[in-house]
Amino acid sequence: MTTGTPPHTLIIGAGLAGLALARELTRAGQHVTVLDKAHGVSGRSSTRRMETQPTGELARLDHGARFFTARTPRTLAMVQEGLTAGWLAEWTRRVPSWSAGRVSEEPDGHPRYVPPAGMSTLGKELAQGLTVTTGALVTRLQQHPGGWLAECQDGRQVTAEQLVLNMPAPQILPLLEGTVRELARLRDVTFAPCWAVGAVLTHDLNEVDWPALRILDHPALEWLAREHTKRPPGHPPALMLHARADWSQAHLNDERGAVLEALLAAAREVVGPFEVSGAFAHRWLYATPTQRFPGGYGWLREAALGWCGDWCSPDPHGPRVEAALLSGWQLSDALLSRD
Ligand SMILES: Cc1cc2nc3c(=O)[nH]c(=O)nc-3n(C[C@H](O)[C@H](O)[C@H](O)COP(=O)(O)OP(=O)(O)OC[C@H]3O[C@@H](n4cnc5c(N)ncnc54)[C@H](O)[C@@H]3O)c2cc1C
Repeated sequence: MTTGTPPHTLIIGAGLAGLALARELTRAGQHVTVLDKAHGVSGRSSTRRMETQPTGELARLDHGARFFTARTPRTLAMVQEGLTAGWLAEWTRRVPSWSAGRVSEEPDGHPRYVPPAGMSTLGKELAQGLTVTTGALVTRLQQHPGGWLAECQDGRQVTAEQLVLNMPAPQILPLLEGTVRELARLRDVTFAPCWAVGAVLTHDLNEVDWPALRILDHPALEWLAREHTKRPPGHPPALMLHARADWSQAHLNDERGAVLEALLAAAREVVGPFEVSGAFAHRWLYATPTQRFPGGYGWLREAALGWCGDWCSPDPHGPRVEAALLSGWQLSDALLSRD
């Protein structure tokens, strides 16, 4: 590694943790490059746009993170920034539960935040001014005397003095197997999958006023949201459905079309009949960490290699948006205080 000039950091993954880290390092004047395999930034905090028929209006459905909460001063400051700038809004303080056919409310009163343009706005806002290349699937990582070399599927190569991995741990291991011994610790990190179905409706549901339901004892579904309640008035009525982890695991390799029909049928069992004008199914293979890494981030100084993400444990509140942000920020604090 060079001395005097700050190191060039390569971050694989433009999820919220990777972007939070990239932003802080960039603000401190460091040279940072971010690569992501997806078409856009923001990872699992993501929004699918669907053209509705016959009007051609655009519906926005959050098929990953549904909303986020903020408990720590740093996240609350980001929330305040977003509310003031107008890209963020408080969605709701109530999400009733559905159990055995009954909807019941136990108000917890805490604010749930969603950008009106969709959850992917979080990543887009963090990525402003950063050097991010999307559509870059990293297929090989190699140590070399000056640091690291990443090779993408299309043959592109990027070198940097230090490397940070923001993808889910199970996706890191195949890329680095046999290079750095300490990575064996990541083998204990596990994830549960989630099937998600988004549907644009011909009409909103009848006689309901809740924004979403947490579904407690349905064999397939655990979440149903009226997505349009997150959006500016006039947005087409739309539902987002998330399947339970055990159901998703049991149906992991089912055809998309079969999953779509099964989850729409499950939703009709919960809310009654509705008509769909367009729908999609998305499988998250690594949706929710079930066993996390015991630390807010990882940093192996000798190897100039680190990792961050919601699968680390920067706080006790579980693997969510805020955990991803905190993990990225904790790693940036560690890297900046070292220099
Ligand atoms: C269905 C679902 C519902 C959720 N609901 C909520 C919720 O209501 N509230 C909440 O707070 N959180 C929720 N979450 C969790 C939240 O989305 C995550 O905690 C957060 O987005 C994780 O961010 P991250 O930076 O850790 O990782 P990720 O978002 O997973 O980012 C990793 C990035 O790495 C990229 N990548 C992976 N492999 C490669 C490669 N080889 N080359 C290049 N790039 C690569 C991926 O494309 C991705 O962009 C939900 C998640 C899901 C899936």
